Amino acid sequence: MKHPPSILIIYTGGTIGMVNDPETGALYPLDFKQVASFVPELKRFGYQLSAISFDPPIDSSNVEPETWIRLAEMIEQSYNDYDGFVILHGTDTMAYSASALSFLLENLGKPVVFTGSQLPIGIIRTDGKENLISAIEIAADKEQGKPIVPEVCIFFQNKLFRGNRTIKYNAEYFNAFRSDNYPELAETGIKITYNHSRIMRPQNVQELIVHKTLDTNVAIIKIFPGISENVLASVFNTPGLKGVILETYGSGNAPTSPWFLRIIKGAAEKGIIILNVTQCSAGKVDMSLYETGKKLLSSGVISGKDITTESALTKLMFLLGKKNAFNSELHQLLNKSLRGEINE
Ligand code: ASP
Repeated sequence: MKHPPSILIIYTGGTIGMVNDPETGALYPLDFKQVASFVPELKRFGYQLSAISFDPPIDSSNVEPETWIRLAEMIEQSYNDYDGFVILHGTDTMAYSASALSFLLENLGKPVVFTGSQLPIGIIRTDGKENLISAIEIAADKEQGKPIVPEVCIFFQNKLFRGNRTIKYNAEYFNAFRSDNYPELAETGIKITYNHSRIMRPQNVQELIVHKTLDTNVAIIKIFPGISENVLASVFNTPGLKGVILETYGSGNAPTSPWFLRIIKGAAEKGIIILNVTQCSAGKVDMSLYETGKKLLSSGVISGKDITTESALTKLMFLLGKKNAFNSELHQLLNKSLRGEINE
């Protein structure tokens, strides 16, 4: 007999499950039972739905790398018991969390769909219901007995994105997320239309490997006109620093002042990994285009290509977490697409 799809919902918190405190007016989180009571449709799915919650649920601004490892472990523990996973998460750091999970879960063969909402679930006009219902359906969808989207993704409003390609770009409207450098994996309308050729599917089923170490000795430096030597030097002089995401202009350009290049070169020579990521949300780093990029390249900076900052940061934490890796190996892996996060 065919079993109904089984989905595990992991509720971490976020606006979707919040209500207004009558005294202060500020939003605070409900527990999952209360959240589910606002979505009676869940019972009509006919799926086996189970839920586990963070206790207490958190605003995603409080997410830490330990949270990602905890989520990865939750999936590991239940991996064989469910067809798919839905993670309810605040939107603020969802793109970071989805990127991190994509690296932590190697050989993923089942859907892990992040979603949340801009308006709390108890509000009549909430976007949370639609998001939750579609995310569950996507996590359960199969074709010829195989999951359609065995990836870590984000579903929001009417689009499914590869998680590590996504950025939060809108704090007000329901289309909170974008993926400018990679097409959506699916779109929902009267039916769910999958972009099959863009979905990563393992050739053969391999055992899930769950990585559990992330190294947080990293920093993001967004350059800006007027950035001072003191500011740049103080970040690069941070004790224990191992990697920096350098957010540069356009196609990977940065100032060519001697002090700027001296600091960058010195840091690279000390073994600090410097990954060049563009401040633009679309397009890629190409350090061969302008003199201002070439100088970075010759100073030892690595191209992040078309990676998002969120993905670059979590990829760096993940790779630095591989204790015995040599810098040359890390350089190679940064140039490679590990989970579809860059076009090589
Ligand atoms: N501050 C909330 C969070 O990220 C915002 C949201 O969920 O949309 O948890």
